[in-house]
Amino acid sequence: MMDSTNACIYVTDPETDEILFMNRAMKQAYGLEDPEGKLCWQLLQLGQQGRCAFCPVQMLTQDGSAPSYVWEEQNPITGRTYENYDSLMRWTDGRMVHFQHSTDVTEARRLYRAAMIDELTGALSRRAGKEALSHLLEKAGEPLCVCMLDINGLKSVNDLHGHAAGDSLLKGVASAVCRLLHGEEFFMRLSGDEFVVVLPGVRQAEAAARMQAMLEEFARERPAFFPEGDAFCYGVIEVREQIPMQDVLARADERMYQQKRSLHIRRAEALLNQPRSGEPSAPFSYDANLLYDALVASTDDYVYVCDMKTGVFRYTPAMVAEFGLPGEVIPNAAAVWGAKVHPHDKRVFLESNQEIIDGRTDVHCVEYRAQNVRGEWLWLRCRGHLQRDKAGDPTLFAGFITNLGKKNKLDPLTGLFNKFELENDMLQLLSGPHPKPLTFMMLGLDGFKHINSLYDRVFGDEVIRLVAHRLRSLLPPNSTVYRLDGDEFAILMRGSSRTAADQLFYLIRASFSEQQVFDGKKFYCTLSGGCVFAPDDGRSYVELARCASYALEYAKRRGKNRLECYRHEIVAGRRRTLELTELLRESVEHDFENFEMYYQPVFNASRQVIGAEALARWSCAKYGPVSPVEFIPLLEQSGLILPVGRWIFREVLSTCVSWEQDAPDFAISINLSYLQLQDENFCSFMLDTIKELGANPRHIVLELTESYLAANMDRVAQLLTEIRRSGIRIAMDDFGTGYSSLGVLKSAPIDIAKIDRAFVKGIQSSTFDSAFLRLVVELCSVLGIDTCLEGVETEDEFDAVLPMSLSYIQGFLLGRPLPAEEFRRRFLLHS
Ligand code: C2E
Ligand code: CA
Ligand code: CA
Repeated sequence: MMDSTNACIYVTDPETDEILFMNRAMKQAYGLEDPEGKLCWQLLQLGQQGRCAFCPVQMLTQDGSAPSYVWEEQNPITGRTYENYDSLMRWTDGRMVHFQHSTDVTEARRLYRAAMIDELTGALSRRAGKEALSHLLEKAGEPLCVCMLDINGLKSVNDLHGHAAGDSLLKGVASAVCRLLHGEEFFMRLSGDEFVVVLPGVRQAEAAARMQAMLEEFARERPAFFPEGDAFCYGVIEVREQIPMQDVLARADERMYQQKRSLHIRRAEALLNQPRSGEPSAPFSYDANLLYDALVASTDDYVYVCDMKTGVFRYTPAMVAEFGLPGEVIPNAAAVWGAKVHPHDKRVFLESNQEIIDGRTDVHCVEYRAQNVRGEWLWLRCRGHLQRDKAGDPTLFAGFITNLGKKNKLDPLTGLFNKFELENDMLQLLSGPHPKPLTFMMLGLDGFKHINSLYDRVFGDEVIRLVAHRLRSLLPPNSTVYRLDGDEFAILMRGSSRTAADQLFYLIRASFSEQQVFDGKKFYCTLSGGCVFAPDDGRSYVELARCASYALEYAKRRGKNRLECYRHEIVAGRRRTLELTELLRESVEHDFENFEMYYQPVFNASRQVIGAEALARWSCAKYGPVSPVEFIPLLEQSGLILPVGRWIFREVLSTCVSWEQDAPDFAISINLSYLQLQDENFCSFMLDTIKELGANPRHIVLELTESYLAANMDRVAQLLTEIRRSGIRIAMDDFGTGYSSLGVLKSAPIDIAKIDRAFVKGIQSSTFDSAFLRLVVELCSVLGIDTCLEGVETEDEFDAVLPMSLSYIQGFLLGRPLPAEEFRRRFLLHS
């Protein structure tokens, strides 16, 4: 039976290594005739003086629990690879013998390796490489760098020097990569000219440095046929958290592409600076059908066509005449046409061209200035389409250049249409017997003043230009963007659709959500929007523009970075707002009549009153009592908060002083608006008033909201420290609602954290809320900060928070805000 199998089988004495039996297949493979009675390591191996170091017999006899032992062997006599199964078995004479059964796996291993390894470069194949990478990504935890590497100009090396040269370039780069790798690092060939290098345990900076060193090394030993310049571009990303492999590769690719793009732009710029000679003229032909497709996809004045296989452009006679071009057919158009482009717009122009050349996009739309024969700068809008052949290769690029400058309806800063043009366009759409439905969105930059004052106007102008470019790139078809005054823009869309407006704003918001860097300066710049629809919201330009600006103003009031569509209530609300503001102003002018301070008691854990929070009240004949939630923001918007804030401070302080005899250690909390802190004189005003009224600063607490403190810590930290030096304490109000991290507690110079009442609401139902409370209290006690919980309304809530070692508790359960005299009677006289 053993002789009839193709596998090799032999049996030895485990004590002596003497061969007891060998089957026919094995004798054939090893060229042996009578191996029985000889020692296995003499016959089956080369140059052995004793039992082989890797022999499994030792392990089998020692460890009775292992019934068999599987291993792979590269045999020097047959030159083949075997998979061996060794075991012990009882032999015909009753003793235990060693039995080996082995299969020749040489072919299987070769096929496996062929599937794993890219033959030409020795890199892992795409499949094997991706498998290995996804394995590493699943582990995560350890840093891991993934580098995308893309060979430059492989196609032209192939075209100009043949595929052997292309292969040799690939091999050269691959061997440079190989030399870079240590240990578990590997690389794969992702596609024809793309590789991915995977460096586990390596940080970003090191990986980038190694890639750069490799690039430089390759430059030194570059093959003769390879043109000057970098052999490849690369993009390195460090992966720290678990991210899907597709995203990792996409991010590395995006980095790589950035490098590639700037390389191309550098080259194009170098080309622009080269002196040009001779009358360019070259034969030109194109596929009329493809040209027609491109023409249909665009519209307007000067037509251009580019044969993507040769890079030759053709322009119209009108354009040749207007710009003094050397001829209609221009082989080096990037240089000739690029030289006409305004220096400020060159980058935009080149970037946009490059995206087409790289095949990253098929649609081209860019606006820039170019100089005509008379030396005037004209704004041009260049639109076009890239057409590909059946194989997907770029074949023809064609479109139109619209001369906007002639119409003189442009905003000089951004090149966008101006507000006069907006009015014109709207009039056209709205007039006549069949007015067209339309969507009109007014956009305003949030906090643009802040950007202007943080840097300067020149920078502010750049921001406006960047925003204009970005907006234009986001526009859906059938819509136009206009620059209005200052930091406002408008978008006009054909058709009246709430969904389309929402979708567009969603894109805008997503596109502006990240911090931006310009000229090395970082800034955030979000947009608010107000939207109206014609004919529903109005039928005239004036009416629509007014409603859109109300909606925009409302969006800003409701927290910015959002879109509001016009509703009648916005105007009604606006009317109330305007009226209340007027009434508040009257109150202030009449010596703060109708303002009053209420006091809400603050307790310690033993339910003793230790202080009060002063809360402002205001009412008027027309609307009755108005909540501070409504009137404080109105005071802030109108600037009235500064006089009112001073009045409050003085009022509360005199009350505090008058209570000193009834309650010697009583502390009063005063809410401050962020605007008061920005008032340079406020600090000295407080100190003067304290002195004048003879108040004790240790009995005063100033409350500032968490959201303000967290966002402005750098600016106010010093001021707060100064205030605290006088003995006044600082509380961080509404803690937990400002989305700042708990880390803010560590850096903020504060004495008390007032935890927002939102957390009390969930205390019995939400484990998060109670865990958050406990954590904050614990953290604060480590940092030496007192805690005050606001909004305790029921006995149950009180019982639930009592064990948490809060310093202070405040809430309707223990006491509502009361007028000063009532407060004194209730809480001070009998305590
Ligand atoms: P705040 O500083 O968080 O004040 C606490 C608010 O919670 C007060 O509302 C208080 O009446 C209310 N409150 C206290 N305990 C409970 C409770 O158990 N349940 C509930 N539901 N509410 C409770 P109020 O007086 O309407 O003030 C609202 C906000 O207006 C204040 O919030 C503060 O931001 C602002 N404000 C009030 N007075 C002044 C002031 O004099 N100056 C400034 N700058 N802002 C003030
Ligand atoms: Ca408060
Ligand atoms: Ca609060």
